[in-house]
Amino acid sequence: MSATIIDGKAHAAGLRARIADEVQRLKAAHGITPGLAVVLVGEDPASQVYVRSKGRMTVEVGMASFEHRLDADTPQAELLDLVARLNADPAVHGILVQLPLPAHMDESAVITAIDPAKDVDGFHISNVGRLATGQDAMVPCTPLGCLMLLRDTLGSLSGKSAVVIGRSNIVGKPMAQLLLRDSCTVTIAHSRTADLAEIVRRAEIVVAAVGRPGMVTGDWIRPGATVIDVGINRVDAPEKGEGGTRLVGDVDFDSAVRVAGAITPVPGGVGPMTIACLLANTLTACCRASGLPAPE
Ligand code: NDP
Repeated sequence: MSATIIDGKAHAAGLRARIADEVQRLKAAHGITPGLAVVLVGEDPASQVYVRSKGRMTVEVGMASFEHRLDADTPQAELLDLVARLNADPAVHGILVQLPLPAHMDESAVITAIDPAKDVDGFHISNVGRLATGQDAMVPCTPLGCLMLLRDTLGSLSGKSAVVIGRSNIVGKPMAQLLLRDSCTVTIAHSRTADLAEIVRRAEIVVAAVGRPGMVTGDWIRPGATVIDVGINRVDAPEKGEGGTRLVGDVDFDSAVRVAGAITPVPGGVGPMTIACLLANTLTACCRASGLPAPE
């Protein structure tokens, strides 16, 4: 028996199409165009790729895209000035400062400077607190995408046992909060967890957000479990010629696919959902700012 492969690319395309419809409706009915500002400091190659595809997809769904590129040695005060201007700009509904920032900058000071209502990454402490206390919040995009895939695959998550491996502020912790909000019984595992394989084996839902290629193997998986692999790891791929590399997840796909009920591949699973959720958050922020009901 082999698991259902959860097609994140198709789910993300469907979500972007629904967002594009909603953007058209907002423009036609209210004359409002949602706007997303992305700020990139420095020339980190991976960040440049992300920022380019974010800009392209923002325009594709009919939103306004504002890109700001600053030199790697820009003083932090200059970045904070830019954030303040974006906070005050009514055409900007979402602000994303691409992380990581150069070493001379204090990431948490920069995130704290973003208006929480425009914090489409969901990293501002006010949004973290709102999510934890069950209030309307901007929810971090990657765990939000995982939740959508889980709901689409399983329907109600209520009462299900879930293990989240990883406790980062960006993925693990908000993921656990979202699963708890959907009434799962949640275990959060991390590098100090004892008997990790045994704990994972009890779970009906496994979310792996570790950053270790293929760590979760098929013999850790409860038969029929739903496995969401957040990990993006570049590993050597000699079969692609000298210096060749490929992307793999935190789950050993080939062994896990034989045991799981459903599983996300890497690439093509969680990754595509992240940018689609960024657009969803921008739409939500725009609706809230305009006093309109945010789409589900
Ligand atoms: P972090 O490095 O911030 O966190 C990793 C977590 O994994 C930590 O909580 C750490 O525990 C835990 N961990 C490390 N080693 C082990 C181990 N041997 N056993 C159990 N737990 C362990 O990573 P992120 O959360 O930012 O990202 C995780 C993965 O997800 C990465 O591969 C990243 O590239 C990917 N990612 C993918 C995204 C997407 O869009 N698909 C978006 C964001 C991230 P401890 O806290 O004890 O150190």
